[in-house]
Amino acid sequence: MLIDNHGRPISYLRLAVTDRCNLRCFYCMPEEGISFLPKPHLLTFEEMLRMVRIMADMGISKVRITGGEPFVRRELMSFLRELVAIPGIEKVNITTNGVLTEPLIPELKSLGINSINLSLDTLDRERFKEMTRRDELPAVLSTLDALLANDIETKINAVVMAGKNDIDILPLVGLTKDLPVSVRFIEEMPFNGSGLNEAAFMSYHKIIEIVKEKHPSLSKLKDEAHSTSYNYGIDNHKGNVGVIAAFSRTFCGTCNRIRVTPTGTFKSCLYDDGVLNIR
Ligand code: SAM
Ligand code: SF4
Repeated sequence: MLIDNHGRPISYLRLAVTDRCNLRCFYCMPEEGISFLPKPHLLTFEEMLRMVRIMADMGISKVRITGGEPFVRRELMSFLRELVAIPGIEKVNITTNGVLTEPLIPELKSLGINSINLSLDTLDRERFKEMTRRDELPAVLSTLDALLANDIETKINAVVMAGKNDIDILPLVGLTKDLPVSVRFIEEMPFNGSGLNEAAFMSYHKIIEIVKEKHPSLSKLKDEAHSTSYNYGIDNHKGNVGVIAAFSRTFCGTCNRIRVTPTGTFKSCLYDDGVLNIR
């Protein structure tokens, strides 16, 4: 088993397959994009599969594919087909912005990918365009429809910032009334190079307060082990609501993850700069 020096068993790999993206969310990337890595610097899919096979022998049983936007990397579907077949890998989940995902959903379902995190910060087309610098809300909403039509567990992730999209909190919570989705609000992490925007920072307490004011029946659910979100139900809603205290970092004690960047650098914490490059 992989056990870190705080005694935490590591069973979950978050693998970023690319640094490229087809959106430019203002909290994640500058408008002009980052200087994307030349392809030879990225781990090849063969190298990633070899790494996961080795890690599966050491107790990794769950893999989340992320990025950048995973679906902009060519041959992702062939890679996923081989990944899900690795002995010991019980769960493969994906985090996506949903722009290119919709046509691939039946195939993802047939591969046994039963849970997808869809990033969606607003249901308003203009605000979506402003926040992501691309007019892609309709494509993302088609992905949401297709996920539900294919019975894939869907978690919607929304980064919330005061004065930007805090007015979207309640419309997003509204989705949980009739849809079996989990809407999870994420505290902004200061990763876009300009530090934490304190005026815009929304803590998970504040977010819960806003939801509770509108939905007094909001009540705490039992969280799964290693969950990064605190989850809540609302009477007569099919879905549920969660908050991820990504900045307050309330979940470190039960962390079971290791991260690998597209170039093969291991990160034992989201907030470290990388501890070793396996290449
Ligand atoms: N492109 C994919 C997507 O957006 O779902 C996967 C990669 S993206 C980096 C993974 C998640 O990180 C998204 O849900 C996104 O909203 C979140 N994220 C990005 N920058 C963030 C920040 N500064 N603070 C909090 N969450 C952030
Ligand atoms: Fe792209 Fe995801 Fe970052 Fe948005 S959050 S720019 S979709 S990688």
